[in-house]
Amino acid sequence: MEKIGKVLISFDCEGKWGMIDERQSWIDNKLTDKNLYHIYEFILDILEKNNLRATFGFVGAMLESETEFRDKVKKLRQGTSHKIWIEEFYKKYENNSEGYFLPELMKLFKDSRHELATHGYCHIPFDRLSEEEAIEELSLVKSQMSNLGISYSSIIYPRNKISHTRILSRSGIARYRDFPNHLNINFIPKKINSLIDSLNVYKQAENLNKNSVPGGIMVHWFYGYRKMIPSSIIYKKYDNLLQDAAENKKMAHLWLHPHNLITSRQSKILFRDLCKNIGEMMKNEKLVNVTFNELI
Ligand SMILES: [Zn+2]
Repeated sequence: MEKIGKVLISFDCEGKWGMIDERQSWIDNKLTDKNLYHIYEFILDILEKNNLRATFGFVGAMLESETEFRDKVKKLRQGTSHKIWIEEFYKKYENNSEGYFLPELMKLFKDSRHELATHGYCHIPFDRLSEEEAIEELSLVKSQMSNLGISYSSIIYPRNKISHTRILSRSGIARYRDFPNHLNINFIPKKINSLIDSLNVYKQAENLNKNSVPGGIMVHWFYGYRKMIPSSIIYKKYDNLLQDAAENKKMAHLWLHPHNLITSRQSKILFRDLCKNIGEMMKNEKLVNVTFNELI
């Protein structure tokens, strides 16, 4: 087959697990079990309509029941970063239990063509874990997989904190999603980096690395200061990215948090439009769509 540009879509599926150490905000009240369930239905429907497959990286605990979770984490040793993270979780959970445990989501993925991957067991960033704790976190992921009767071979690191890559293969993980292809100038604040990056319409596609999937770019979340960016710039940026992948036989990777589509209507529309564009480019044989495990 003639070499052709590729497009990947991936999701950081975490409900409220990604916000354990963040301040409570109004978002907390939006991320209910019901809203989350509906947004996954919406996403799967849009993908299906455009004949697209994606990689969904799930926080393991999110797919378990609260009882299963409590039973598993009680074995963690006191005083470790791991245990501290779980204690933070319990504090938040006692205030508002919505948005954490959604085992019923798996029904939506029954017989689906998408790839399921891990996003950690409890979303603790791996750079906070010692090697021993990282092994523990991955063994929790492993037990969650056997509970569900599935197996993952890819990881999307929580907060893209890529660490302990050496131990991944012991848990059957063959690849990880690399650092995002975002602007990252160390001496300027993260928000300014993000703002400049959002305004860069000449976004280029990426090439393949060895054990990692090119980090890709986030589907714009029209929220807070990011809402200031005109949507015409955002649309142009993704257009350029997809064109570059098609013309230069490279890779365009788009990723997002499903819950961002709950908190921003504009992002929900953007996601729908992007999938439609990608679907069209595939029909015209300009791009092929792959999941992580098909790439490496
Ligand atoms: Zn995450």
